[in-house]
Amino acid sequence: MLNKRIVVLGAGVSGLTTATLLLQQEKAIKVHVVAKYFPGDLSGEYTSPWAGAHWRSHAAKDEIREQEFDRETYNYFWKIANTPYSGVMIIDEFEYWEKLPQDFSDPWFKTLCHEYRHLRKEELPVGVEFGITYKSISINPSTYLNYLLNTFTSLGGTTQRANLSHLNECIESDTDIVVNCSGIHARTLGGVEDSDVFPARGQIVITQLPQSYMNWAFFKREANGESTYAIPRDNGEVTLGGTYEEDNYSTDVDYDTAAAIIHRCLATRPDLLPKNQPHLIIKMHGVGLRPCRKGGVRVETEWTTSEKFGKKILICHNYGHGGSGYESSYGTAQSALKIMKEILQS
Ligand code: FAD
Repeated sequence: MLNKRIVVLGAGVSGLTTATLLLQQEKAIKVHVVAKYFPGDLSGEYTSPWAGAHWRSHAAKDEIREQEFDRETYNYFWKIANTPYSGVMIIDEFEYWEKLPQDFSDPWFKTLCHEYRHLRKEELPVGVEFGITYKSISINPSTYLNYLLNTFTSLGGTTQRANLSHLNECIESDTDIVVNCSGIHARTLGGVEDSDVFPARGQIVITQLPQSYMNWAFFKREANGESTYAIPRDNGEVTLGGTYEEDNYSTDVDYDTAAAIIHRCLATRPDLLPKNQPHLIIKMHGVGLRPCRKGGVRVETEWTTSEKFGKKILICHNYGHGGSGYESSYGTAQSALKIMKEILQS
C-alpha cells in the first residue's frame, strides 16, 4: 500500500492499532486518524479507556476466525510485554467456576497459552468448584493507547479531532482508502448504520494498590450468571468488575452495583487487600459500552463512490469487537490489512 493515502476513523484500540500497522508494516504514504475522542479523553462514548484490560479469549471452540484474531494478538502482546511505556505485562490468569459445568472441556487456547493447567483443589478459593490457570497479558489501557498514538505519530501519522455524522466526511481529494473503526458508533454513523451493533454496558471500579503487589488476574463465573473479576495494571491500579448489560446505554455509575462488585471481588480473593491495609483505595468508578455486534466483529471491505471528488474509494470496516477489543486488536488489524491488500491487488 506504498502509494495509498488512508484515513482511519477512530482513535480507540482498533483504530490506533490499524493505523500504526498501516505505517509500520505497509509503509502507506499517508495515514491520517480522525476522531472525536483521543487517548487521554474519558467519555462514555469512547470505550477503550474503560477496558480491564486483559487477554481472556471469548472465542468458542467453533469460532475459528475469532480464535485466529486472539491467537495472533496473544503472541504479539507476549513479544512486546514489558516494553517501556507500553503498559503491557505478563500475568498469571485464574479462571474460576462457582459451579463446574457438566459439559466442561478445555478451551481452544489450552495449547496456546503458556503454563496452562487445571487448578488443584487446594488452590481454589472458597466457593469455587473448579478453575484453570495460564500465563496471560494485562494491558493498561491509557498507557497502551498513548503508546500506540506515540508510535503512530513518530512514524509520520497525523491526527485530527472532528465529530463526523457521515463516513463520507473522512474523504479528502487525495484519499484512496477509509478505515472505519468507529466502535459502538457504527450503529448510527451515516454510511454505515449497522443495526447489528449494540452496547453491552460494563461497570468497573478502579482501585489503587502498591505497584507490583499483584501480577495475577482472576475471572469468576458465578452460578447466577454474573461475572466477577480483578485485573492488575503495571502502575498498581486494579480494575474490579463487572457487569454485562446488553442494550443498556446508560453511562451513569450505579453505586449499589459498585459496592456489590467490591464485595464479590473480596469474597473471592480476600488477598486483593494487602494485610496492613484496612480497605481498598478507590481511585475511580467507570462505565463503558462494549461495542457488540450480532455475527461478531466486522472486518470487511466494500467500494463506495465519492460524488464530491468523482472517484471510487475503498472502505475497510474494523468494528464491533464487543468485550474482546484488546485481546483481538492485533489480529483484527492484521486481517483488515490483508483484505485491503487482496482487493487492491485484484
Ligand atoms: P472505541 O474505543 O469506542 O473507539 C471508537 C473511536 O471512534 C473513538 O476515537 C471515537 O471518538 C471515534 N468515533 C466513532 N464515531 C465517530 C464519529 N462519528 N466522528 C468522530 N469520531 C468517531 N476487551 C478486552 O480485550 N479485554 C478486556 O479485559 C476488556 N475489558 C473490558 C471491560 C469493560 C468494562 C468494557 C466496557 C470493555 C472491555 N473490553 C475488553 C472491550 C474493549 O474495551 C472494546 O472492545 C474496545 O475498546 C473497542 O475499541 P474500539 O476502538 O473499537 O472503539
